[in-house]
Amino acid sequence: HSKRIGGDRIDVYKPAMRARKTDRLTLESELRRAIERQEITILYQPIVRLEDRSIAGFEALSRWDHPKLGRMSPSEFISIAEETGLIVDLGMFVLDQTAKQLSVWQRAMRSRDPIFASVNVSSRQLLRHDLIHDIRTVLSRSSVARGTLKLELTESLVMENPEHAAQMLTRIRELGTGLSLDDFGTGHSSLAYLQRFPFDTIKIDQSFVRTTSRGTRPVILKSIIALAHDLGMDVVAEGAETDSDAVELYQMGCEYAQGFAFGEPMDADAAMRLLTEVRLEAAS
Ligand code: C2E
Ligand code: MG
Ligand code: MG
Ligand code: MG
Repeated sequence: HSKRIGGDRIDVYKPAMRARKTDRLTLESELRRAIERQEITILYQPIVRLEDRSIAGFEALSRWDHPKLGRMSPSEFISIAEETGLIVDLGMFVLDQTAKQLSVWQRAMRSRDPIFASVNVSSRQLLRHDLIHDIRTVLSRSSVARGTLKLELTESLVMENPEHAAQMLTRIRELGTGLSLDDFGTGHSSLAYLQRFPFDTIKIDQSFVRTTSRGTRPVILKSIIALAHDLGMDVVAEGAETDSDAVELYQMGCEYAQGFAFGEPMDADAAMRLLTEVRLEAAS
């Protein structure tokens, strides 16, 4: 399905195909230029409150509009950006744009609870760069409601250097920035261990959520949801693809979901249109 640009299923074979056409060094210098010229597009995917299907927030997801290769997904350029250090500039760009966009949305819907926006962060940004300075700068340039700009980090990222990560994350939380633990369940740490990091939300990886992983799915999902709640965290299920996924997740006590059932990653204008609708109906 060509509309599902962001889907992992499509990502799997694209990088290999393109790697043959364009070598890494070329991509690296092209990516450097793309960031300068702002050829990076940010799409936003809704995160929905399952109770009433209202939009709680959006996740920012980057795309690279390459002049020759067309629109590229993160699996094709984030690792290059990380290895070359370009992720620092790319990350700052995404953070800044998303915060600006978030204040526009919040102004447009000021009578309702402010929505949030979350941005993915790579380990290099957190561990080898002054991310705190970037967040301060971004917050001072925009007027987002306190606590509504969030970062998403993976387990492997915080485990790379747990001491340093815990310190940094505590300082980031003090700035009024939310912290979500992304792709939960794919790493090697236990949720109890992760309690020492100041996450407010865990995002259950889509491999536990997708319809294709039936069977043991309900048991695993229920356990993760219960543990997260015991630790005082909110839960977002990633990869909710059908309405029945959404219904089941809600019955299991999960409060938020994200996935094709509610909307694919979309541009900022489409997100704004969606925000003006009262209620989101899940597709199929
Ligand atoms: P993620 O943070 O776990 O984001 C969720 C991914 O799942 C997105 O892929 C999204 O399009 C996809 N997705 C959402 N709903 C569904 C669904 O119902 N079914 C399926 N099959 N997939 C769904 P995307 O946009 O290709 O991004 C892939 C990963 O790239 C992200 O995973 C994130 O780790 C990374 N990424 C994206 N943008 C950025 C960025 O600006 N900076 C950094 N550091 N990483 C980024
Ligand atoms: Mg994420
Ligand atoms: Mg994820
Ligand atoms: Mg992921």
